[in-house]
Amino acid sequence: MDCIFCKIGKSEIPAHKVYEDKYCFAFLDIKPHAKGHTVVIPKKHAVTLFDLDDTSAKELLLGVKKVMTILQKKLSPDGFNVGWNQGSEAGQVVPHLHIHIMPRYIGDGGGSMHSIIKNPGELGVEEVAKKFK
Ligand code: AMP
Ligand code: ZN
Repeated sequence: MDCIFCKIGKSEIPAHKVYEDKYCFAFLDIKPHAKGHTVVIPKKHAVTLFDLDDTSAKELLLGVKKVMTILQKKLSPDGFNVGWNQGSEAGQVVPHLHIHIMPRYIGDGGGSMHSIIKNPGELGVEEVAKKFK
């Protein structure tokens, strides 16, 4: 398959590896938004989380935790933002699931997860809640 992240996961093309195990591979983002900005991918190809089997999904989160621990030790950040862009409307560019880990530092000028979008839509929370009953 002609997928750049599959190739990185198999070490077929170079990347600055941070961590690797049987299920996942983590490497420094080539265009970092923070010092130590790392992406963690499942070795199995999946475009989104919906496409990933449960074992790989669980292992991916464990991989994220391991990578955060490594980053904490090596770079001593003051916090993290962790998440992924799922779907092109949400900003996904590379069609292989990848979790962004962005270490945060006091005074770095960044925002929180809440700054990604501020458009709650027409319905109030009570109306939306009815959909889950
Ligand atoms: P996304 O918008 O969530 O699909 O983000 C894709 C991320 O992958 C971007 O932050 C890119 O800078 C990063 N990226 C793309 N190609 C590479 C590469 N060859 N090595 C490292 N990071 C990459
Ligand atoms: Zn892939």
